[in-house]
Amino acid sequence: MKKITSVCPYCGAGCKLKLVVENNKIIRAEGAEGVTNQNQLCLKGFYGWDFLNDTRLLTPRLTRPMIRYEKGGKLTPVSWDEAIRYTAKRLSEIKAAFGPRAIMTTGSSRGTGNETNYVMQKFARAVLNTNNVDCCARVCHGPSVAGLQETLGNGAMSNAISDIEHSKCLLIFGYNCADSHPIVARRVIKARQNGAKIIVCDPRRIETARIADQHLQLNNGCNMALVNAFGYVLIDEHLYDREYVLKHTEGFDAYWQTVKDFSPESVEHLTGVPAQQVRQAMRTFAAAPSATVMWGMGVTQFGQAVDVVRGLSSLALLTGNLGRPHVGVGPVRGQNNVQGACDMGVLPNQFPGYQDVTDPAVREKFARAWGIDAALMDDKVGTRITEVPHLALEGKVKAYYIMGEDPLQTEADLGLVRSGFDALDFVVVQDIFMTKTAEAADVILPATSWGEHGGVFTCADRGFQRFEKAIEPTGDVKRDWEIISLLATAMGYPMKYENNQQIWDEMRELCPLFYGVTYEKMGDMGHIQWPCPDLDHPGTPYLYLHSKFDTPSGKGKLFAAPWRAPAEVPDEDFPMVLCTVREVGHYSCRSMTGNCAALQALADEPGNVQINGLDAEKLGIRHRDLVWVSSRRGKVISRADVSDRINRGAVYMTYQWWIGACNELTQDNLDPISKTPETKYCAVKIEPI
Ligand code: SF4
Repeated sequence: MKKITSVCPYCGAGCKLKLVVENNKIIRAEGAEGVTNQNQLCLKGFYGWDFLNDTRLLTPRLTRPMIRYEKGGKLTPVSWDEAIRYTAKRLSEIKAAFGPRAIMTTGSSRGTGNETNYVMQKFARAVLNTNNVDCCARVCHGPSVAGLQETLGNGAMSNAISDIEHSKCLLIFGYNCADSHPIVARRVIKARQNGAKIIVCDPRRIETARIADQHLQLNNGCNMALVNAFGYVLIDEHLYDREYVLKHTEGFDAYWQTVKDFSPESVEHLTGVPAQQVRQAMRTFAAAPSATVMWGMGVTQFGQAVDVVRGLSSLALLTGNLGRPHVGVGPVRGQNNVQGACDMGVLPNQFPGYQDVTDPAVREKFARAWGIDAALMDDKVGTRITEVPHLALEGKVKAYYIMGEDPLQTEADLGLVRSGFDALDFVVVQDIFMTKTAEAADVILPATSWGEHGGVFTCADRGFQRFEKAIEPTGDVKRDWEIISLLATAMGYPMKYENNQQIWDEMRELCPLFYGVTYEKMGDMGHIQWPCPDLDHPGTPYLYLHSKFDTPSGKGKLFAAPWRAPAEVPDEDFPMVLCTVREVGHYSCRSMTGNCAALQALADEPGNVQINGLDAEKLGIRHRDLVWVSSRRGKVISRADVSDRINRGAVYMTYQWWIGACNELTQDNLDPISKTPETKYCAVKIEPI
């Protein structure tokens, strides 16, 4: 029996664990003394590994390469040589016929690791010569990256998960940590026990609201109005830190010109939050000696998400809650390595280490290191994954190489996404399970899973952590970066790596932000937060120390925008709002957690639609009844979960389920900057069956 150090593959909390292995089978997981989790794990950490052993899986594990030689034909098992030859040939033909930008690629925010994401973006840029590489950050915290990079200089959490419990006030906006990051929720509880004031802004009475000092139960789709009202109160009641604002920020006058129209009294009808509650919340927030603003996808999955992120960071700036311990801004990333995928340049606008693709000097640096002519490098921002269906239908994207993502389950408006896929000439899926997207592939490249390879993940607080291989894989599978390297070589760009560390060290040499994060420094249990520019640098627990921001002026930028209504509001035909949410037992597209016996037992049937008791009564629906949920785009069956914790006029569904998939209903109104879809708001109707 042996114990292998790993990092949980599910959420951005980055919990360290030990996989106990006997005869090449995992027999249990134990919490380890990680910086973020201190021996604790949630259900997914404890029970989320048995898909690696179980031979009775719900979804078949991919164990050999397959090709569908003709559209509409069957997937045929082939050798690796044939799979690589055929894929390289088809991609080369499409590149020659339609140009590099006709090919889209993705990295993965799941169990594959930073090294693979680095290699994937290198493949896109050096071999295909396109910046068309993206990841699921686009549909979750893309707005946090775009908003914070502009206002503060970095798109990530400014402090550490372990620091949350020391803050004396937590403003938690659109973030249900109990379901999405249970170990972060534990820090929130500890903060409460340490005397922190908790302010929760959420339309539902979520778990955290039960321990909050104040729960501001705002109407769905009104985030910007409430954030502006917060800013109004801070200035109107002279609660803001005038000296800090003068010294460390810019844009105050323009900020006031916008928020002065958003007094809590004037927007009460819109937000649904009594003005006195808004004023009291800001009095509490401003009076705290230290405060942290945390948010989740209740902020980012809207058509006006980037503006709200900028507005939230402005609240921290107005009150001087940046640049020192126990304060900051915390967009808590969803999947376990979505921060890492962004760090590694799986973004259409940035190379690894957040270096802009539009900067000729940066392109020259990477071209030299990769041994290609800089003139071959794409000098324009590439395509985002949410733009692919539209561009495919317009004939501008012809091929899609998808690694460890399942857009046919997780993207908004699945009818549109399916039409986009139907218009593509060639789809390659590299994954571990026969997902919905894999079912639509022309080529399947089976990869090793978390547990079957090692590497480095970045958790939500910028902390790099190593994880190790625990068992030998079964089946004819290869490591993700090995597959990409074979493809690159077959397309005329020789690429060969011996191991993860070789890739990591190549990446470090090109990224000043990460240069000091060596394998040795991370060691077994280390958690090194970037920036870490030198070999003897310990990492950076708090960004912007002494309030020196990474913006062009060195100052934090205050920002407000008028509120914009969501794209599709309820009407007579579709009178309720649908909002997509998380559930505690499953993660993302559920391909991994859905194949774990204990987690499957926890939630074992198509998802629920959460509805308020009075709304249900009016519709003649009882708790656990099967119901139809329909929007202008589709209709799905679900089971009613009647609860007084749900606000009236809205219903909530989790998006992990293949039957009752709520993304059949959602719509793809994109934020104009981040191109993130508005999956938190569309109009639906509910009918008893
Ligand atoms: Fe920790 Fe998140 Fe894994 Fe739960 S799912 S054990 S909170 S990393």
